[in-house]
Amino acid sequence: MDTTQDAPRQDFDVLVVGGGTAGCIVAARLSQDPQLSVGLLEWGPSDIDEPRALQIARWPELLESEYDLDYRSVPQERGNSSIHQTRMKLLGGCSSVNTMISWKPLASDLREWVGLGAQGWDAETILPYWSRVQAPITPVAEQDRNPVVELSLQAAVAALGVPRRQTWNDLPAGEDLTAGAGFFEIGYDPTTGIRSSASVAYLHPVLQRSNLHVILGRRATRLQVQGRRVSAVETVREDGVQERFHGTREVVLSSGAIDTPRLLLLSGIGPKDVLAEAGLDVVVDLPGVGENLQDHAEGITIFEVDLDIPDVRATDWDAGVLTTVDEGAERPDVLMHLPVTTVGDHVEAQGVQLPTRNVSMASNVAKPRSRGRVWIDSADPGAPPKIDYRYFTDPDGHDERMLVAGVRLARRIAAAQPLAGHVVREVFPGEDAHTDEEISRRERAVHQTVFHVCGTCRMGAAENPASVVDPSLRLIGLDNLSIVDASVFPTVTAVNPVGTVMVLAERAADLLRQRI
Ligand SMILES: Cc1cc2nc3c(=O)[nH]c(=O)nc-3n(C[C@H](O)[C@H](O)[C@H](O)COP(=O)(O)OP(=O)(O)OC[C@H]3O[C@@H](n4cnc5c(N)ncnc54)[C@H](O)[C@@H]3O)c2cc1C
Repeated sequence: MDTTQDAPRQDFDVLVVGGGTAGCIVAARLSQDPQLSVGLLEWGPSDIDEPRALQIARWPELLESEYDLDYRSVPQERGNSSIHQTRMKLLGGCSSVNTMISWKPLASDLREWVGLGAQGWDAETILPYWSRVQAPITPVAEQDRNPVVELSLQAAVAALGVPRRQTWNDLPAGEDLTAGAGFFEIGYDPTTGIRSSASVAYLHPVLQRSNLHVILGRRATRLQVQGRRVSAVETVREDGVQERFHGTREVVLSSGAIDTPRLLLLSGIGPKDVLAEAGLDVVVDLPGVGENLQDHAEGITIFEVDLDIPDVRATDWDAGVLTTVDEGAERPDVLMHLPVTTVGDHVEAQGVQLPTRNVSMASNVAKPRSRGRVWIDSADPGAPPKIDYRYFTDPDGHDERMLVAGVRLARRIAAAQPLAGHVVREVFPGEDAHTDEEISRRERAVHQTVFHVCGTCRMGAAENPASVVDPSLRLIGLDNLSIVDASVFPTVTAVNPVGTVMVLAERAADLLRQRI
């Protein structure tokens, strides 16, 4: 492995930019072919000696740590302007910090993608890739199941009539997952507590491969383009040293939903008006770069309870409820997390005091219709990216309706046994919040992100001006540049996305092998 050494090799057949969730998988899979030299370029350091990354329960310690890019947004007209968007500058990327709640891609999401021009991403083609995913995924183990969360799950089944699930990812082919309550399937080893990040599961076991070169501590700042090909990737180290790397057959961007469009824009690839404002020449005019930003905004309902909450958990975010709110909906439109510990910082910032003993239910808008964007306003790679989520701005008010629905669902759960007997009062949004307008106002002020940003380099038909990559994941307008990360999602998955990112990377490895 080349780590942060001074003079790493610089020429490869394939250069993957970003050693995150998707990047680790693509590099590991492509380097199975000993004839192919693969470079994996990562901004951050290795996770190998970082117990906060390896032990899944320690993930909160990484938030706002030295690895967290901690992106902020422009002020939000209708949502929370104080969102901290964690992005990990560390091998494994966000799979080194996340709670690894892992879902097999939903057939309903894939149908939607195909409808938006992602030919070949149908369930029949894509779902078999789930069995290739090498990251061990398992239901939260018995010893990690919090008994108070269990009460909430039983109350959810009683109140909403959703099925209790022991597993989520083994539905028969052709059956859509629309509802359920249960402990999640997550990527960890219950005996050691080690997370199944993409780096742990895919990269660590193959670091000795002589044709795989992991180059750490380099941030890509610009792609050099000659004709229709990327000829070099310019990088900078922490100490300011600049270097160039080459992927002679293919360059693959896997820098994530914020940094992949940012790197394209810094390279003159994107909407020409954005490039002009940033003072950059247009290399490829691609109007879709940075557009179509989607995220799961998550509201919160908090109840005071008369129970002591035991310190039992796998990651804290171990269970939840999936349901459909709209009559006849064929896919889930609310996903509720049932954390062990309330994340109440935004609520407390509103002056609400949280009682020591409380239970919270955090519902997100599973299929949001609001669309935001990512852009740059400067040619300086050191300038922060601009992010506008435009939460709750969809013209038909769907997202706001689902936010309010999440609170009303939580109230029904709290009113059902076996939880009801332990509920003292509703702390937030509060028993005096009756109307949809009032619930919405309070929730929109405090909602969280579940860190599921995606969609900013969307895949679609090459003729569609909104597409950034075609369904083979190649950038439209260049011949040797592909994108493999959550930025290519045409729409956000109704469930937590990392399972779909891993499947996407597995599929991408096949597509890349076919053409390089
Ligand atoms: C706190 C948190 C909890 C989450 N929990 C869950 C969960 O439980 N379940 C779930 O499904 N999803 C969860 N997610 C979301 C999920 O982890 C992400 O959607 C997914 O990991 C994104 O993968 P990616 O490959 O697109 O990007 P990333 O994994 O973010 O990888 C991007 C990589 O590129 C590197 N990089 C960026 N820019 C450059 C550059 N210019 N040069 C070189 N390298 C660069 C970064 O350092 C990083 O390693 C969570 C996310 C967070 C932050």
